Amino acid sequence: MSQLDSQIAVVTGAGRGAGEAIARKLAAMGAHVLLVARDGGSLERVRQKIQGAGGQATSLPCDLQDPAAVAQLGERVAREFRRCDILVNNAAVGLEGRPLHELAPEEWDRVFNTNLRGPYLMMRALAPLMIQARSGHIINISSLAGRNPLPNGAAYAASKWGLNGLTYSVAEELRPYGIRVSVIAPGSINTDFMDHQGQGARSGKDPAKKLQPDDVAGVVATLVTQAPQAFISEVLMRPTQKP
Ligand code: NAP
Repeated sequence: MSQLDSQIAVVTGAGRGAGEAIARKLAAMGAHVLLVARDGGSLERVRQKIQGAGGQATSLPCDLQDPAAVAQLGERVAREFRRCDILVNNAAVGLEGRPLHELAPEEWDRVFNTNLRGPYLMMRALAPLMIQARSGHIINISSLAGRNPLPNGAAYAASKWGLNGLTYSVAEELRPYGIRVSVIAPGSINTDFMDHQGQGARSGKDPAKKLQPDDVAGVVATLVTQAPQAFISEVLMRPTQKP
């Protein structure tokens, strides 16, 4: 029997990058993974990879910026799957690097609505299922940019500083129900995401020295298989050598 057999795991941003690696890892551990992102095509590609490896996954395309769509997603999970054991809030967007005073309000809203309000809406939609079961794991993927100043990326950094505060507070709200809410804060990961300088793959950083998506997935696997009495609430991850 696999470690996560009969568990339902929801992973946002599962269409590529770290989210894809997390989804594939949880499926390999036996969970039925519900894949969330806007682009149904990328979710379908990941679903087929999981299925090809003998795992179970379902694509649930959804724009996390849309509160009604997230509420509908929660209703569908309750109706069709009746439980949610694991929620990984991984989806996020970055920014072209520029000083805050040059940032348009629409860009600020896009970053905050995805990176901070998105996890709130997902927890609002799915935490009741965990409370009902009196167990569950919620893992929010933050960033070292949520611990440090990030010149030319202030809105992104603020969204991740906010996500940390949200995580610590909700963790205390849900602890009495046996639900663990944790945050993982990685440094540069080798994905197509805009990195901390807002340049993504164009940054000139050595991709081999960056954290790899599977490194993040490995930490998620550790968090969801802790002994019942243990609660790793926060993990900071850095590349061993600066990329
Ligand atoms: P990525 O490769 O750009 O993937 C982001 C995922 O989020 C995609 O599947 C994207 O799919 C989804 N997404 C974006 N906006 C969405 C929305 N409105 N609704 C639903 N899904 C949405 O990113 P990554 O590098 O894997 O990053 C994963 C996490 O790690 C993020 O939280 C990021 O902040 C964090 N992180 C990344 C780095 C890094 O260097 N890459 C460093 C530290 C922390 P669609 O576009 O199809 O919606």
